[in-house]
Amino acid sequence: MSYIETSSGKWEIIIGLEVHAQVISESKLFSSASTKFGTAPNENVAYLDAAIPGSLPVINSFCIDQAIKTGLGLNGTINLTSFFDRKNYFYADLPQGYQITQFYHPLVSGGYVEIETDYGEVKKVNLDHIHIEQDAGKSIHDQSPIRSFIDLNRSGIGLMEIVTKPDMRSAVEVAIFLRKLRSILRYLKTCDGNMDEGSMRADLNVSVHRPGTDYGTRAEVKNVNSIKFLTIAVNFEVERQIGILESGKKVKQETRLFDNSTGRTIAMRSKEDAQDYRYFPEPDLPPLRLEQSRIDAIRESIPELPDAKSKRLQRDYNIPYYDACLIASEKEVADFYEKALCDVEPDENLAKILSSWMTGELFALLNRYNKTIVESKISPEHMKELMILIKTEVISGKIAKDILELMWETQESPLAIVEGRDWRQITSEDEIRKYVREVLVNHNDKVVEYKNGKDKLFGFFVGQVMKITQGKANPQILNEILKRLLDT
Ligand code: ADP
Ligand code: MG
Repeated sequence: MSYIETSSGKWEIIIGLEVHAQVISESKLFSSASTKFGTAPNENVAYLDAAIPGSLPVINSFCIDQAIKTGLGLNGTINLTSFFDRKNYFYADLPQGYQITQFYHPLVSGGYVEIETDYGEVKKVNLDHIHIEQDAGKSIHDQSPIRSFIDLNRSGIGLMEIVTKPDMRSAVEVAIFLRKLRSILRYLKTCDGNMDEGSMRADLNVSVHRPGTDYGTRAEVKNVNSIKFLTIAVNFEVERQIGILESGKKVKQETRLFDNSTGRTIAMRSKEDAQDYRYFPEPDLPPLRLEQSRIDAIRESIPELPDAKSKRLQRDYNIPYYDACLIASEKEVADFYEKALCDVEPDENLAKILSSWMTGELFALLNRYNKTIVESKISPEHMKELMILIKTEVISGKIAKDILELMWETQESPLAIVEGRDWRQITSEDEIRKYVREVLVNHNDKVVEYKNGKDKLFGFFVGQVMKITQGKANPQILNEILKRLLDT
């Protein structure tokens, strides 16, 4: 368990999230306007999105399918009848004066996401429900010193609000949960999970209490837009609330804003009650009634999800848990991995070499050049060829790293690179023995020191042979020969 310990004793942290995930759909939830990101302000606005009197909402059935798919992918129950409600409030970028949402009877009840915590324990983060709602527009305050502007492109885009139970216990768990959630949504292709573009945002609910007592009063921190900021916000809130409680005061239930530039949260308003919004059933929309057959068909279309894929990768290829999770976290990465192994004989060894080279060296290259696996300059076929060269000891691991860099730069095949540069590993014992002898003769003084107990010099001799052979000597054979010659 993760407790925080201060001079006054132990505290437990309780966290629940409300994640707003933008539905992947060409058009908005109740209008036919486009959802395209990055177009000119107010380009994608239908009458309804601008609340022109007389315009009426029409349910976009694709958005509903997407939300059903999400609910099923997150192990929830799809309710055959759900309702839309009006949540009334005034905001400049909400021209209707209300948001159409689902308050009393949401589309999805329950569900859970399985995470592996930093303590290595697998736990379920339970979901309360998922409902669908419209997004608001955007107010722009930084274009003019005297005016604000309104961009309604986002107004009316479909959102899924995924509400968790208060099941997380630390900032680390929040980060693990969000990465997992994002990965599942991306597999489902129902939300792209892009926090930078705002297509996934989270409101954070945090409270602290003494272990064994009732949960404390929570503060809600609005719209924190990256995992890094969420971590900072959790830590700030925990410290703030513990400070208040330790000085004998009470935490106020309130809505707070996160300030990116200072890493602090600031009180925004006292927490509103449901009654402040005057929720009532949306009169312009009928109840949302679903046929079981529609839900079943969507269930059929759900691909293998990351947990199942990771388990299968471990089973089929016998690769380590950690590698399997990393590879399975993005469908495209897993596809790359399996493509590289597709027409080779089942070979545990090759599968393991590949998983470690992909999650190590290839990921490092992708990171360095800021590319996704789909944009990789190295193809699965070339990756496979390189792994075979490593496995059959045609090249050493050290040279393989240089080859991988060159593969990225030139898109040449690894074999062509090895041949062109004469980089084959030297495995002939005779040849290696010749180099070892040469080194020992040239460093006779060091040989004497070694024999007098300076063991560290072994590495020096290895280094010298590698220098002469430009790193091509097979390290294992070199070690054996060196040991033999030094010990005689
Ligand atoms: P509301 O709809 O008024 O915001 P909910 O009860 O639906 O309130 O809870 C919203 C979020 O707050 C959920 O994610 C829930 O898990 C979380 N939450 C509820 N109680 C606590 C608590 N004591 N500490 C931290 N989070 C909490
Ligand atoms: Mg809330």
